[in-house]
Amino acid sequence: MKNIEKSTEPSSIIDTQPRHEMHNRWPRAECVQDFIDNLAAVQSRIDAACLRAGRSTSDVRLLPVSKTMDEQHIRLAHQAGCKILGENKVQEAWGKSQAMSDLTDLKWSVIGHLQSNKAKLVARFASEFQALDSLNTAEILNRRLELENRTLDVFVQVNTSAEPSKYGLAPENVADFMAQLSPFPNLRVKGLMTLAEFSSDADRVRACFIRLRNLRDQLAEVYGNLHLSMGMSGDFEIAIEEGANVVRVGQAIFGARSLPDDHFWPTGG
Ligand SMILES: *Cc1c(COP(=O)(O)O)cnc(C)c1O
Repeated sequence: MKNIEKSTEPSSIIDTQPRHEMHNRWPRAECVQDFIDNLAAVQSRIDAACLRAGRSTSDVRLLPVSKTMDEQHIRLAHQAGCKILGENKVQEAWGKSQAMSDLTDLKWSVIGHLQSNKAKLVARFASEFQALDSLNTAEILNRRLELENRTLDVFVQVNTSAEPSKYGLAPENVADFMAQLSPFPNLRVKGLMTLAEFSSDADRVRACFIRLRNLRDQLAEVYGNLHLSMGMSGDFEIAIEEGANVVRVGQAIFGARSLPDDHFWPTGG
């Protein structure tokens, strides 16, 4: 199923304005070839952004995000080469991992806020958790991981936009938080994660990514080269220009979601 709209999106776009306004225009991928095409298009935009920024493409990992997508579409994505998928809701991710346990090479990365009562599920099936922002959750996760005899790669989520609706630690609290993670050896702290301000103003988006990079640089003396997970379908090129090592891309691969993003980032957290 070839989609005409898709070809209007140049693969080597130079303009790095965030394209949030495009979210409802990504056509849904419906066959393996659609996924292959979309993955190739995203990868070539990643490569172009790396080239502009003088970075090596091997320093940037693409994490496809499959939240809200059903099993049928996820199986197509897997056939097109996706071996790890990001999901922001634990229950949903757990259900999918169970339903697709026959895909033994498929791993799951939980990228959304975790309530401590769901930590035991994450300890069971996730290979990565990108939204750590509480010591209570860290403690429970670590205990559950011990019981499962597993370790988990984690990213500490930072709220770089100061928006109260976003989860994550305030940048000034991250150093203290990191220092208190040492009693939890089953958590392997790999990096920092953020969501940029949801804005069509590229400078405001970029400022969030710069904040995360500066934080990483401040922490480098103690923690070495922490990876930066930042950038989504609408802004991953800006994120790469500012140092992203992981970009989390859903809609540019799977197609638009039917619900607005604030549905996934509930307020009052
Ligand atoms: C949904 C989501 C993404 C991907 O967003 P897209 O617009 O689909 O690329 C990235 N990170 C997090 C935490 C998300 O919840």
